[in-house]
Amino acid sequence: MCFVWHMGARLWRWRRYILALYRKFIVDNVLFPRWNGTSDISVGMALAISALVGSNIVVSSIGVHDSTLLSARLSKLALVNAVPLFLGGRTNLWANSICGLSLANYGVLHRWLGRIFVVQSVTHGLLRAANSSWRFTAMEVTNLVVLCTIVMTSVLFIRRRFFELFLKSHSLLAFSLLALVWFHIKKGMNFATVCLSTTTTLWVTQFIYWAGNLFFRNVGGYRNGVNSLVPICRDGKSAELMSLQVSLRRPWRVRHGQYAYITIPSIPRAAFATLQSHPYLLAWASEEPSHLSKEVTFIVEGRNGFSDRLRQCTEPRSVIVDGPYDQNIELDNFDKVLFVANDVGIVAHLLAIRHLLHGHDDKTVRARRISLLWMLKEREQENIARQYLERLMGKDTRRIFTILICYPKSVISEGDATDHEIPRLFRTDTPLDLKWYFKTECSAEAGNMALSLCGTPQLEQHVRRALQRAFCDITLYTSAFKMDENMYSRELTRKIVRQDQISSVPLDI
Ligand SMILES: Cc1cc2nc3c(=O)[nH]c(=O)nc-3n(C[C@H](O)[C@H](O)[C@H](O)COP(=O)(O)OP(=O)(O)OC[C@H]3O[C@@H](n4cnc5c(N)ncnc54)[C@H](O)[C@@H]3O)c2cc1C
Repeated sequence: MCFVWHMGARLWRWRRYILALYRKFIVDNVLFPRWNGTSDISVGMALAISALVGSNIVVSSIGVHDSTLLSARLSKLALVNAVPLFLGGRTNLWANSICGLSLANYGVLHRWLGRIFVVQSVTHGLLRAANSSWRFTAMEVTNLVVLCTIVMTSVLFIRRRFFELFLKSHSLLAFSLLALVWFHIKKGMNFATVCLSTTTTLWVTQFIYWAGNLFFRNVGGYRNGVNSLVPICRDGKSAELMSLQVSLRRPWRVRHGQYAYITIPSIPRAAFATLQSHPYLLAWASEEPSHLSKEVTFIVEGRNGFSDRLRQCTEPRSVIVDGPYDQNIELDNFDKVLFVANDVGIVAHLLAIRHLLHGHDDKTVRARRISLLWMLKEREQENIARQYLERLMGKDTRRIFTILICYPKSVISEGDATDHEIPRLFRTDTPLDLKWYFKTECSAEAGNMALSLCGTPQLEQHVRRALQRAFCDITLYTSAFKMDENMYSRELTRKIVRQDQISSVPLDI
């Protein structure tokens, strides 16, 4: 008893270090980095998936000795799995707002629940058919066809190439399947009816909440007129990035980490533009005395579909805003906060830095040191965030904010490393040893430290590896925006980030 008490007390004293190790090796340790269109699988997530699959296998086999019983058990399990599955893969009230699951984590669980649901439903159907001399009813055939179509339209290739088509067909097919299962089960006070009623109730509540919010944000309002969208800046030669300013009909209290789905019905050359909605993080928002922002800014990277058509928007257009949705990253209780981004990943950090600088002045947050590490390939890309960085520096009255911009070699010329217009902004083309950099940042001030990251998979991998090697207690947060790798980014990260080299980059320590 005494031994247990002593061990408990010791563990309680060490809880900070134990938690740090748990975060470093379980939560933040990525086993399978994401490909474009998928999500990272961390050790913690792999354990959760194994537990999900394992518990389904155990429950479906305990006490089962014939195929009729197995078929009945699988159908019950499929109905239980349908409850969280039908909440949807996109941001939703139950999974994200109430249970606090991040968009990416819920996406992974949704895909695994879907796989388990399909295997259980198809096996149930085949066993039932085998027990009745391979005779299928029309309802069973329809159910199987809808299930198979869902599987075929969900493969990674389709999701990557025709994301909008996948999204809309997926919702439609899932809704049809739910209706078909209602016809398929025996109604009454039984297990199947309870499960399906729960699924339907949660789904309908989510739909009403979503439709109500969409209506509220886009109809009426104290301002007369439509939400407008104006491309205000393009980045020099490549026009890869665009900055879009949206006037809101109903101002809202903007927090860092928020994102919204935007739809532009009149966008040129886009099929079914009214049905397309794309998520973008709020990069900036106007500051009003009421704390309700009337204008928000999105920074959009030009891709192949909707965002490519945006380039052709030269005049204001009406826009439908679905949101805001949150991924609340709580940085207020950290003494040092380091923001790391490459390219358009900067969007995840601007409002967070503004919040910390305000909080520092009002003495409502702990931050005493704020640093931004931004990796870019061309000087023109700085333009996209330059005005916001200047504004942030203007707010930094107590000189706690430093910016370091890294480029691959050759972009910086002599005397170009510091910026005379933005104080405490440094540029470097020296390859950066992240482990050294994190250690230096961590030891620059006393207190705890957070690292907020929005980058491509390759950069994320480098950051996670360096954090593990640095042996500092740094809490890692990643953004809801999971950037894709492109043909340049991998090569660029390789040029900018070097491991195990002594760096000589300018740092304000
Ligand atoms: C929470 C969140 C925040 C984001 N914030 C930003 C941001 O601030 N700036 C920015 O440039 N990008 C952001 N993105 C990515 C942006 O949503 C996609 O790049 C954009 O939807 C691509 O549209 P497209 O038709 O031009 O691209 P396409 O070339 O047609 O598709 C490229 C890829 O984008 C993804 N995609 C396409 N449509 C959607 C959709 N409706 N929803 C989710 N993903 C989609 C798919 O993985 C697809 O493979 C964010 C994504 C998420 C999930």
